[in-house]
Amino acid sequence: AEKNPGEKEFQQAVKEVLDSLRPVIEANEEQYRKDALLERMTEPERIITFRVPWVDDNGQAHVNRGFRVQFNSAIGPYKGGLRLHPSVNLGIIKFLGFEQTFKNSLTGLPIGGGKGGSDFDPKGKSDREIMKFCQSFMTELYRHIGADTDVPAGDIGVGGREIGYLYGQYKRLTGLYEGVLTGKGLTYGGSLARTEATGYGLVYMVREMLLNAGMTMEGKTVAVSGSGNVAIYTTEKAQQYGMKVVTLSDSNGWIYDPNGIDLDLVKQIKEVRRGRIKEYAEAKPGVEYHEGKGVWSVKCDIALPCATQNELDLEDAKQLKANGCFLVAEGANMPSTREATDFFLESGMMFMPGKAANAGGVATSALEMSQNSERLSWTFEEVDEKLHNIMINIFKKVDEAAKKYGYEGNYVMGANIAGFEKVVEAMNAQGIV
Ligand code: NDP
Repeated sequence: AEKNPGEKEFQQAVKEVLDSLRPVIEANEEQYRKDALLERMTEPERIITFRVPWVDDNGQAHVNRGFRVQFNSAIGPYKGGLRLHPSVNLGIIKFLGFEQTFKNSLTGLPIGGGKGGSDFDPKGKSDREIMKFCQSFMTELYRHIGADTDVPAGDIGVGGREIGYLYGQYKRLTGLYEGVLTGKGLTYGGSLARTEATGYGLVYMVREMLLNAGMTMEGKTVAVSGSGNVAIYTTEKAQQYGMKVVTLSDSNGWIYDPNGIDLDLVKQIKEVRRGRIKEYAEAKPGVEYHEGKGVWSVKCDIALPCATQNELDLEDAKQLKANGCFLVAEGANMPSTREATDFFLESGMMFMPGKAANAGGVATSALEMSQNSERLSWTFEEVDEKLHNIMINIFKKVDEAAKKYGYEGNYVMGANIAGFEKVVEAMNAQGIV
């Protein structure tokens, strides 16, 4: 905390990870101290911050702050998304880059950890303003990234449109047509199933958790938060498996549809009109809309937080349990507070942390990199099948790592340990760097 003052999300993430690695750290204490392993693990290899000036449609100039944190390249080129949201600061990008390192390790693919973004607010901006911002952002970022060094992707506020503008500017500045970004459109090097990957992967993970407990998916009631990329494709796959999703939300409020979410309507509102989730309740009779928080107060079997960090606190966790919820899997990054996470584990609920549960997105990004390298495109079915197998393998690794240290069923420990051990091995092999 002294070394990183004010970076509360980063401190939270480091503490959570190191606490759960205790058995591993204790078993290797002397060696880790001698090698300053944990100090190296928690210090990013490189932090880049830069000015992003742009001019709005009225001729007014603005300045935002851009970030790229290149956290750890022990197992591959830095890989991780770009977030555009007014809340973005260095502590948030560092927390995301730190977590990304272990998540990427869990996928089994050769990708290191990084994250970036800006405090720019895309809400209410015209396409032209978004393009201006993205071009300005890339005009500095391009010199730090590359298909074999650092490959950014989307995150909150960065979808297909933004990736397109960023890619166009990178190509213009470098002359390179290479896989430097993932989440690209299908006409210029994108991968089929990347859009769906994080949400689909999350549901594949839920499936493994249920199967492992001898349960089925059919007929389960699910509460989902958020209404962006992850929330939408989580809902889609959950419905394909016969589950009933009853909620969605955004930063203004949440909807409850007792008959199950009508996903075509959601896609129309969010993907076509770029509207608000409130419009769903306005368009459909019998749907409740509530301002503010409260999505976790509904009765459900399974809760899948897919919006943002710290959106589910201890009170929410208790309410979920009291209402019969028995499984929580994180589509977002660190959506549960530390107290909520501890409550899930202590009260015997099944709980899968984001770094394992939402790893399908980055895994499929790595598959996009492979396709770009061989200049071929795989079919939707091919990519989806690989994604499904990756999620099955992540569940196995997490489950086995927890068992190995005597903490069966504690997937927080399992995910951190399994992700960490591979990174440590790669770091050790490469010397003190
Ligand atoms: P989107 O921008 O598509 O959607 C984000 C959703 O979360 C929106 O509904 C947004 O509402 C809501 N939200 C964002 N910030 C807040 C906030 N401060 N309070 C309440 N609601 C908020 O992003 P994604 O769906 O891509 O990302 C969602 C989460 O999943 C993030 O934690 C991200 O890091 C994580 N993730 C995403 C991956 C991906 O492939 N996209 C991969 C792995 C993890 P509003 O419109 O009102 O802001």
